[in-house]
Amino acid sequence: MGEYVVRCVGCGAVQPDYALTCNCPNGSSLLRAYYASKRLILQDLPGIWKFYEWLPVRGISKAGEGSVTYKSDGLAKELGLKNLYISFSGYWPERNAFMKTCSFKDLEAPPTMQRIAELGDSATLVVASAGNTARAFANVSSITGQPLMLFVPENALHRMWLTTEKGPITLIAVKGDYYDAILAAEKVQSQKGFMPEGGARNIARRDGMGTVMLEAALKIGEIPQHYFQAVGSGTGGISAWEASLRLIDDGRFGQRLPKLHLAQNVPNAPIYYAWTGKGAGLNQQVCPADMYDDVLFNRRPPYSVRGGVKDALDATFGQVYGVTNKNADDAKRLFEESEGIDILNASAVAVAALIHAVKSESVTVGTNDIILLNITGGGVSRLKEDFAINLLEPDATISGPEEAIELIEGRR
Ligand SMILES: *Cc1c(COP(=O)(O)O)cnc(C)c1O
Repeated sequence: MGEYVVRCVGCGAVQPDYALTCNCPNGSSLLRAYYASKRLILQDLPGIWKFYEWLPVRGISKAGEGSVTYKSDGLAKELGLKNLYISFSGYWPERNAFMKTCSFKDLEAPPTMQRIAELGDSATLVVASAGNTARAFANVSSITGQPLMLFVPENALHRMWLTTEKGPITLIAVKGDYYDAILAAEKVQSQKGFMPEGGARNIARRDGMGTVMLEAALKIGEIPQHYFQAVGSGTGGISAWEASLRLIDDGRFGQRLPKLHLAQNVPNAPIYYAWTGKGAGLNQQVCPADMYDDVLFNRRPPYSVRGGVKDALDATFGQVYGVTNKNADDAKRLFEESEGIDILNASAVAVAALIHAVKSESVTVGTNDIILLNITGGGVSRLKEDFAINLLEPDATISGPEEAIELIEGRR
């Protein structure tokens, strides 16, 4: 049980279990977990841990709610689709969805923190986030008691809430945008006693997110033909592709990769520009204040690296959409009215892409096609009906990486 090796997808060489990069000439290729079990044998364990065989862990923790998949009636009817399935990551008890921080970052944080426990290192994990990732890691830390340091842009502090008491967490507000938070976090991650989580390079994050595809394939009985998701870094798209490769190897879920339909919010859409050759390409700039959801902002998506977003799109004959705020807004309303649950703005960007695909002249999805729409976050309003929200206060506010260093020196 729980057996795997980690290999570089560039050179194929086996790497240490906890490595984030390989030193091969292919440079910064992603690493990938290769599981001993080729068949997906479910374990009698709660939440995501039922996929234990295909998670890079050797134990489980008390955190780890999974996503749910259901067949859509309401939205499917609106769009004239016969086989629309919705993966829901969030809080919606009527559908057995119990994620307490209401986004699919809840799938990434538990296996990541579990691996840190297995590493037996007492170092503090350092995470930079515009909100949903920080909240997900904070929730796990509060459940497991593992230390955590979070760097969050000041304007995203409103997203730092939990339904539990705050665990051993140092929350640092950073003046500026998400990128400034990343710079400050990187400075601290390289110091003794602290460690990075690795973002898209972390196999636990990707395989945790990959459980969305596993759950969906189990529910549907096969790998869907289409996969729609709103992306910032595109990590979720890579994860869906990798999980599908494993399902194909299993043999029981079909032999066809799903076509990835990744959606970004224009004008801040580096993956969209890089893929379509339009606009500024990957050299995209500052986060415009009027993004529909700034969790979709990412200046350095793992696009061209081996095993990254471009490879995933190439392999699946994928497509990338540029969604305007107006289209996302309309899509959000349609989804919430037809499905009866509130969703995060990021998810509405994926819904808008689906609407576009269905209505566009160059039809890429057929009425009978099996479609998986990943609602990456939702149910915050529903959660507030059942739980009191505990808004976290920052322990400090800094204006740059130097101040981050001063802060940890002062605490030693
Ligand atoms: C992070 C996030 C995304 C984008 O995820 P990727 O890492 O780009 O795959 C989409 N929706 C929500 C709700 C998120 O929190």
